[in-house]
Amino acid sequence: MRVSRQMLVTLRDVPAEAEIASHQLLLRAGYIRRVGSGIYAYLPMMWKVIQRITCIVREEMNRAGALETLLPQLHPSELWQRSGRWQGYTAGEGIMFHLEDRQGRELGLGPTHEEVITSLAGDLLRSYRQLPVNLYQIQTKFRDEIRPRFGLMRGREFIMKDAYSFHATEESLQDSYAAMDEAYRRIFARCGLDAVPVDADSGAIGGAASQEFMVTADAGEDLILTSDDGLYAANQEKAISCPDDAAPLDVGEPATVETPGQGSIESLCKAQGWHPSRIIKVLLLLARMEDGSEQPLLVSLRGDQELNEVKLSNVLTRLLEQGVLGCHPITVEETGRQGLDPLPLGAIGPDLDDAWLEGARSWTTTFVRLADITATELDRFHCGGNSPDQHRCHCNWESLGGRPEGHDLRKARAGEACVHNREARLQERRGIEVGHIFQLGRKYSEALDSRFTNENGRDEAFWMGCYGIGISRLAQAAVEQHHDEAGICWPIAIAPFEAIVVVANIQDETQRALGEATYSTLLQAGVDVLLDDRKERAGVKFKDADLIGIPWRIVIGRDAAEGNVELIERSSREMRKLPHAEATSSLLRSLRP
Ligand code: ATP
Ligand code: MG
Repeated sequence: MRVSRQMLVTLRDVPAEAEIASHQLLLRAGYIRRVGSGIYAYLPMMWKVIQRITCIVREEMNRAGALETLLPQLHPSELWQRSGRWQGYTAGEGIMFHLEDRQGRELGLGPTHEEVITSLAGDLLRSYRQLPVNLYQIQTKFRDEIRPRFGLMRGREFIMKDAYSFHATEESLQDSYAAMDEAYRRIFARCGLDAVPVDADSGAIGGAASQEFMVTADAGEDLILTSDDGLYAANQEKAISCPDDAAPLDVGEPATVETPGQGSIESLCKAQGWHPSRIIKVLLLLARMEDGSEQPLLVSLRGDQELNEVKLSNVLTRLLEQGVLGCHPITVEETGRQGLDPLPLGAIGPDLDDAWLEGARSWTTTFVRLADITATELDRFHCGGNSPDQHRCHCNWESLGGRPEGHDLRKARAGEACVHNREARLQERRGIEVGHIFQLGRKYSEALDSRFTNENGRDEAFWMGCYGIGISRLAQAAVEQHHDEAGICWPIAIAPFEAIVVVANIQDETQRALGEATYSTLLQAGVDVLLDDRKERAGVKFKDADLIGIPWRIVIGRDAAEGNVELIERSSREMRKLPHAEATSSLLRSLRP
């Protein structure tokens, strides 16, 4: 391919819309263009990258015995009603685009395909003899993300590989899960990515295993915690740790203290000389539940700990036996809108009376009270006095009406000891989630009544797994992991071209002729090569070549008269001056060892 025919439009300036390096570079190098919020066009070179990734994914999925299929993107609402997800996915902050057809029937644009595939499986797979089956597709997904950002990282239309497996037994599911784990490791390694598998949140369905693959990069949206002995890695949403011990507290008389202007843990500690680990802080939150109810929560944490919202949401789902759509801190304005007296924010104790909620317009009028284990394990502590500007010191749980049940609700943090080995410490890194494998169990097959006949002739719901890879996100994650100040450094396996021949001065007949000859030699050897034949200044062409990030470059310049060229590796910037025949043979040896 010739650059003059390539529709190459590069930008010198960093586009204002792009915050992170990979997004800036993909725009500047002419790989993608924004069409709308979270909507991008993959320009021809980007499409080649996507095809390369797709090809690797397809090979590895096929090798693992999965079957490729293609499912519809228009989903009848009825299917999602049956799984119980229609409401949650379309109302409020739900992410499913949905529409009505000319007959007034509701449809959703597929954000994921559990419903469609599970109902098909129920139809097609009748006997244990047909199992296990693993079906995958590579397709555009639609999600009306609340905050689309970072280009392809969080789009509203993006390409995903999703796979779903069906099994007669849990052991068989575990086997497929392990095979997918293996396939994913191969896929990311082949794509030239350093992707770390981490324990991931699997929602409120207890027991089910789930693992995410994280491309480590500072711009990643996820926080991952890894142990320094290399044996543990988890998304912070899921991570567990041993908390630091609470500071010692001398015996003292229980008393009420005036604490004006001391509504934060920091100000309390400063004014009262208390240690944060000896204070119980109580968060006042409102959970929006799947059935439409609005549930006020009192969540008690040790003052030096932070709430993990994912853990909270899972505990709530289990306790209330329904999904949580969202959760946020209650504000003074909101209590006003409920027609309630202002709550003593900043001085709330775990025993705040339900009477505060009496007469609320739309909220449930009793608190759900939850406490983190680090809080329930404290024998003595200080806490809010349930009236403005008052706290209670040297309390114990008995004086507050009894020690509540403790749940793990806190964030594990870097520096804390690991559960598997108290000598090891957690470290934090940021990551981009490029893949997710998940043992779903029988949640969807039961909801959609998708069943097969087992060995004993009885009907049973399938055991299911699901396995996703964000293909378009992966392409950008590769840039985030492989770039320098001059541009992209594509890993060779997913680069749009393997090599580029740059003719410094195309007006110079010797250079032009050697450029053409080198280009055709490489083409004939099967190299996917680009020839920069533009009538641009050499500097412009070198800058563009750096920017677009083709792994190998042959520069034909002044030394062409002596038959010499430069061979440059983009990532290391290592340059060798060689006779042209040696340059091409050395390049071929590197590409096809
Ligand atoms: P996230 O937590 O980042 O929102 P998710 O957990 O909702 O993602 P999954 O349902 O597990 O995503 O989807 C499988 C894969 O699809 C993810 O691992 C990710 O790589 C990719 N993906 C998900 N949402 C997007 C998006 N909005 N844009 C691009 N890729 C995405
Ligand atoms: Mg995920």
